[in-house]
Amino acid sequence: MPNIDLHCHSTVSDGLLTPTLLVERAAACGVDVLALTDHDDVAGLEEARRVAAEKNITFINGVEISADWRGQTLHIVGLGIDPMHPQLAGGLKSIRDGRTMRARNIAAQLDKFGIRGSFEGALAHAGNGRLIGRTHFARFLVQQGYAKDVRSVFKKYLVKGKPGYAPHQWAPLSDAVNWICGSGGRAVIAHPARYKLGRGALDELMLEFRALGGQAIEVVTASHTLEQSLLFANHSQRMGLLASRGSDFHGPGESYFDLGRMPELPANCTPVWHDWKQVM
Ligand code: AMP
Ligand code: MN
Ligand code: MN
Ligand code: MN
Repeated sequence: MPNIDLHCHSTVSDGLLTPTLLVERAAACGVDVLALTDHDDVAGLEEARRVAAEKNITFINGVEISADWRGQTLHIVGLGIDPMHPQLAGGLKSIRDGRTMRARNIAAQLDKFGIRGSFEGALAHAGNGRLIGRTHFARFLVQQGYAKDVRSVFKKYLVKGKPGYAPHQWAPLSDAVNWICGSGGRAVIAHPARYKLGRGALDELMLEFRALGGQAIEVVTASHTLEQSLLFANHSQRMGLLASRGSDFHGPGESYFDLGRMPELPANCTPVWHDWKQVM
């Protein structure tokens, strides 16, 4: 069975490796099919695809879109998208512009707390000046000695209720799904166990997502325990949604799973790649 990893990040968003180094690492890890899914940007796909061809990896164009559903931030992965599609490209550009504004707000919050220069500091950690995120602030704060690692800096500074938090309005879920599907891609709810949703709200989300044209949920991903993977395998079966598998790799030393090094999908779900000719 091929090793399939449909979620990871490069320096185009908040990963630590360039698209080239990321794909080379995937090859070394034995990945056969790879999707690069940078947050809100598709600028790494061309380079990644070129290197993947050299390494005999089947490459899938991907993206991870920051979306809002009932005031909660959700991540929607798009697989097999057309990065040139005007609605998708325009939508992603508007999210990136919003991120720059949010970064100014985060920096202003940290400023009030006595931490100066964090906008420039975060920008210096961003591989792509057009896309700035909390991870870049986190790396800056760690470098400045405010916390020991990225994980603890999030807890202490960057989440709701903490000094460096700035509320933000992401794209509506319906837009994210429409952009992905409109460009020929398949929409996937990323790491569904991570959202603070009760059972009722979770079912409502999955039903609404399906009605919008969404087709899959991530079942195996770094932020799911084995138990949660089994639970979401059952949800995928029950809801008639396909199941995806991805490492959500961001970089050596920062990620739970290396590329392709996560458990297989449970046997009771239908893989999101079940009808992909390239994977047969
Ligand atoms: P943003 O989209 O800018 O709000 O940043 C979200 C990104 O921050 C996620 O994709 C993760 O890479 C990272 N992240 C979020 N929460 C945490 C956490 N608790 N610990 C470490 N990284 C996190
Ligand atoms: Mn990330
Ligand atoms: Mn995510
Ligand atoms: Mn991700």
